[in-house]
Amino acid sequence: MEDRSGWLKDLIRDIPDFPRPGVGFKDITPLLADPKAFAGTVEAMTEPFRDRGVDKVIGIEARGFIIAAPVALDLGAGFVPVRKAGKLPWEVHAESYSLEYGEDTLEVHLDAVGPGDRVLIVDDVLATGGTAAAVARMVDHMGAEPVGYSFILELAFLGGRGRIGNLDTFSLVTYE
Ligand code: AMP
Repeated sequence: MEDRSGWLKDLIRDIPDFPRPGVGFKDITPLLADPKAFAGTVEAMTEPFRDRGVDKVIGIEARGFIIAAPVALDLGAGFVPVRKAGKLPWEVHAESYSLEYGEDTLEVHLDAVGPGDRVLIVDDVLATGGTAAAVARMVDHMGAEPVGYSFILELAFLGGRGRIGNLDTFSLVTYE
């Protein structure tokens, strides 16, 4: 596959100290605003999972939604939103995970995935891996089968891959 990471990195903006001091935020809005980069990103993130029998693509609120929806359409799979606590209107399964300070909770509708479903998990950034690992636990708990993860970018220096299990993991751009 063509290496797109050089020119894609130019479309990912580094915002120091956002949303709080010490965090280097990766702003993907320039990438999303460039139609060739957006299309190429979706295609690259879909490709490794094309023949994997994916039934459902989970997008993690909020930037994960933007990528997961076109990936799902491309794979002929359904789209499933995983949202912050209290946002989904129907019955949910909740999964909590620890953050640097405190805890966060993600929710999914109880009937969104189930036994027999093969599920791809999509988000914009793999950082510490806590979010993605919580979603994989959620999929397991619901009796479905996580197939892999697909990210736009990975902050490899945070060691997220070590926390998300040994599912196939694709990231288009890596920051060492
Ligand atoms: P983590 O659970 O640490 O892997 O964090 C992943 C989640 O937090 C993803 O949903 C990202 O959208 C967000 N995130 C974490 N770190 C960053 C960052 N440096 N820039 C942008 N988003 C981030």
